[in-house]
Amino acid sequence: MSDDCIFCQIVEGDIPSRTVFEDDTAMAFLDANPLAPGHTLVIPKEHHETLEETPEDVAAHVFGVLHRLNTAVEHAVDADGTNVAFNNGEAAGQEVPHVHGHIIPRFEGDGGNPIHAVAG
Ligand code: C5P
Repeated sequence: MSDDCIFCQIVEGDIPSRTVFEDDTAMAFLDANPLAPGHTLVIPKEHHETLEETPEDVAAHVFGVLHRLNTAVEHAVDADGTNVAFNNGEAAGQEVPHVHGHIIPRFEGDGGNPIHAVAG
């Protein structure tokens, strides 16, 4: 837990979130500023800033949750595809320094560029 981390505060319940999944290791919630309906973030509960700093077993667990939720989110919003990505490090556009994976639903003809969609 990092006191000044927004996502740690979400894990602690100090900041409300629209949580769609939670277990001992990971949590997923709807992005507060969605790039598309159903835009979901998956995070480890432990505070790790980047993928490099995240233990492999935790990263593997987070990816397993991403894998399962990707299907659920696609079905929930009837998407035609998704962008699944990590902005890893400030230089890559990571704004919240608590590692997180994005699931961004995509729709035929939505015109978005995948790289721009993830970079925000
Ligand atoms: O990958 P990056 O760090 O740029 O993404 C951070 C994401 O966290 C953004 O999509 C932003 O909308 C989201 N966010 C959120 N709730 C907050 C703060 C940021 O869902 N309280």
